[in-house]
Amino acid sequence: MDELIALVAEFGVQTFLENTFTFVALINREGHLESSNPVAQALGDAASIKGAAFVELLAPESHALFRKLVKETLEKQDVKKASLEFVVGAERNSLRFNCFLTPAPGNRLLFFGEPAVKEIHTMLENGALMKALEKSTHELEIAKQVLDRKQKELQAVIAQAEEVSHTDPLTFLPNRKQILGDLQREVNHAERYNSPLTVSMLDIDHFKKVNDTFGHAVGDEVLRILANLLRENVRHPDFVGRYGGEEFLLILPNSKIDEAGKQAARLCKIVRNTEIKTNQQVVKLTISIGVAQFRIGQDHWQDLLQRADTALYQAKNNGRDQWAALDEIQKTHR
Ligand code: GH3
Ligand code: MG
Ligand code: MG
Repeated sequence: MDELIALVAEFGVQTFLENTFTFVALINREGHLESSNPVAQALGDAASIKGAAFVELLAPESHALFRKLVKETLEKQDVKKASLEFVVGAERNSLRFNCFLTPAPGNRLLFFGEPAVKEIHTMLENGALMKALEKSTHELEIAKQVLDRKQKELQAVIAQAEEVSHTDPLTFLPNRKQILGDLQREVNHAERYNSPLTVSMLDIDHFKKVNDTFGHAVGDEVLRILANLLRENVRHPDFVGRYGGEEFLLILPNSKIDEAGKQAARLCKIVRNTEIKTNQQVVKLTISIGVAQFRIGQDHWQDLLQRADTALYQAKNNGRDQWAALDEIQKTHR
């Protein structure tokens, strides 16, 4: 019973109050109704009015007994039981309820009025109770729809936040966190299937000069335009992300150094030959690229990045606007 009480209190009270045939009400010390469950609606208009005198719901012969019950329950602070006569609905049928009153906080009482089975039958025939219960079911349905809609809205917000947390706000490319996650996934795949994997670390040459000459806002726009250029020229299954300020990481699943080198040379050429038109300026840029192939069984993903970075450093040292590779075969190309 203890477990049942706890479970009903936690999960079942609302369902019970909305569906039971038992009339449940909160009554103050003056015997006025403070609130009640939907069964009240079957008892007539007065029962739906907060503050109505509870005796209004009762047949005159039950008034005195009810007042006595209220007084005794409050004085003795224990449960009182009695049989009371209610008047029900517009026809004012008289129905007998088995009633319990129990003290509640604030010098009030909880009232439970349980109609006898034959009385339930009369109430059902009368139709008033069904109407009351249907109304509460309808309200529940509306509340459920509102809840469903709220839940969908929340899911959309979460999905959006998720998207934002993986996307670089300036270029809309995958951000560093995302591209590193992708790299780890590709490294695992390469290891498991013994398939080639190459990465290219791309860095804008003398980008500081763009900021110094044209200002940071133009620098930002240049980064955005370059990101679009990369997006357009890096084809599936290869992909690109913003690795740092003016550095981008390209991941080439199923590619070896030679293919990555070809792509790097092509990208260097495209950038070299593109006039980057911002709102205020036309900017010419070059890029340098460091390429490294994953060595299965030897490299951790950090080693692969480190080697691409070393290759990039080499491309810069060799004069920029070119790519370099770190591999068993060392390569540098314009
Ligand atoms: P290098 O050829 O050796 O790469 O020269 P660099 O000037 O490009 O290299 P460095 O790393 O010294 O400078 C990178 C510059 O990129 C410095 C920084 O102000 C700029 N930068 C990084 N992130 C952003 C950004 O989000 N917007 C703008 N406008 N500039 C950025
Ligand atoms: Mg840099
Ligand atoms: Mg740079």
